[in-house]
Amino acid sequence: MPSIYLHIPFCKQACHYCNFHFTTSLRYQDDVVSAICKEAVLQKDYTGKGIIETIYFGGGTPSLLDLDDLRQILQTIRDHFPVDAKAEITLEANPDDITSKKLQDWKTAGINRLSMGVQSFFEEDLQWMNRAHHATEALSSIKLALDYFDNITIDLIYGSPGLSNEKWKQNVQTAIDLGIPHLSCYALTVEPKTPLDKLIRLQEKQDVDPDLQSAQFLLLMEWMAAAGYEHYEISNFAKPGWRSKHNSAYWQGKTYLGLGPSAHSFNGSERQWNLSNNNLYVAAIQKGELPAEKEILSPVQQLNEYIMTALRTIEGIQKSILQEKHSVDIPAFRKKAEGYIRTGHIIEQNGSFILTNEGKLLADGIAASLFV
Ligand code: SF4
Repeated sequence: MPSIYLHIPFCKQACHYCNFHFTTSLRYQDDVVSAICKEAVLQKDYTGKGIIETIYFGGGTPSLLDLDDLRQILQTIRDHFPVDAKAEITLEANPDDITSKKLQDWKTAGINRLSMGVQSFFEEDLQWMNRAHHATEALSSIKLALDYFDNITIDLIYGSPGLSNEKWKQNVQTAIDLGIPHLSCYALTVEPKTPLDKLIRLQEKQDVDPDLQSAQFLLLMEWMAAAGYEHYEISNFAKPGWRSKHNSAYWQGKTYLGLGPSAHSFNGSERQWNLSNNNLYVAAIQKGELPAEKEILSPVQQLNEYIMTALRTIEGIQKSILQEKHSVDIPAFRKKAEGYIRTGHIIEQNGSFILTNEGKLLADGIAASLFV
C-alpha cells in the first residue's frame, strides 16, 4: 500500500549540519501550502488505486504550519486519494514549537504520530549545532507531548565533537527513561556546503572523529538491545509493535508520492524529484506543471537499490526476493558475500544475508561491494 510524503520547506533557523531543503523566510508559507495542495490534485493518479497507508509531514519544520494549513493539506489528500482509516500520520515537530494548544490541534487534525527533533539533551550540544531549542525545552516538550500522543519518536545525534560517551549514554538513557517507544539515532555527518563544513574548514569548529562515531554506535546498539528495543534499521530502534510504518514502506520498496519542493517520489521502477526551489516550485504548479525530474531505474539499478536498503534492515537481503524479483543466482551472490561472512560482518540466517553489529559499522561499503 502506498504512502505520501509532504515536504514543508520552512525553518526558524538553520542548523549548522543540515543539508535538507528549507528557507528561514516564512513569508511565502501560504503560497507553498496552496501549491502542495494543487500538486496533490495534479498527482492524484500516481499511487494508482492503492489505499494510502501512511502520510508523513517532513521538512523543514512542519510544526511551524498553522492548523488551517495542516487541515487544508490533509483534507485535499483525503479528497483525492483513498486514505486508510487507520493510516499512520506523522508530523515532524521541533521542541520549541510544542505547546498544549498545538498538540491538541495536531491530534484533532488527525496526526497520530510525532517525530521530535531533539538531537541532544545538553545545552552546549544544541548551541554547537545551532538548534533553535534549548535543553530544558527538549525535556519539557517530550513530557508534554506524551500527555497527548503515545506514538512518539525522537531523533538523537551522536559522534559530534564534545559529546563524550558518558553524555551520549545520558542522552539515550533519558529517552529510554521517558518511555519513548521509537528512537532514530544518526551519526553527525559533515555535508558539503553546509555551515558546519565551512566552519570546520575555517578551523572554527572541530571536525568529527570517525572512531568516536563507531564507538558510540556500538555502545548505542548495546544499550538499546538491553532496553528491549528492536534495531530494525541501521538508524532506527523500536519497542516491539512501534516501528515506523512510513519509513518501513520506503525500505520495503513500496510506492510513495512526495509533494512539495525537493520531495522525491518512487513507484517501483521510476524515481522523480521536485525542484529544490520554493519560488520556481510554486510558479510551475500555478501553471499546472509538475516541476520534477525523472529517472527510470534499470533492472540492475533496482537490484542494487534493494541490496542497499535491505542490508540496512533487520530482515536483511532476502534470498527469495533476490531470486524471484531480481533473478539473482544465489550461489553467485553468496560467493560475493563470502568474505564478509568469514570475517563476521554478515550472517546467513532464515533465508537472508544479515549484517552483524560489526557489519553495520561498514554497511555502505559492504552494500557497494555486493552490487551487480
Ligand atoms: S530544523 Fe531540521 S530541517 Fe530545519 S535546519 Fe534544522 S535540521 Fe534542517
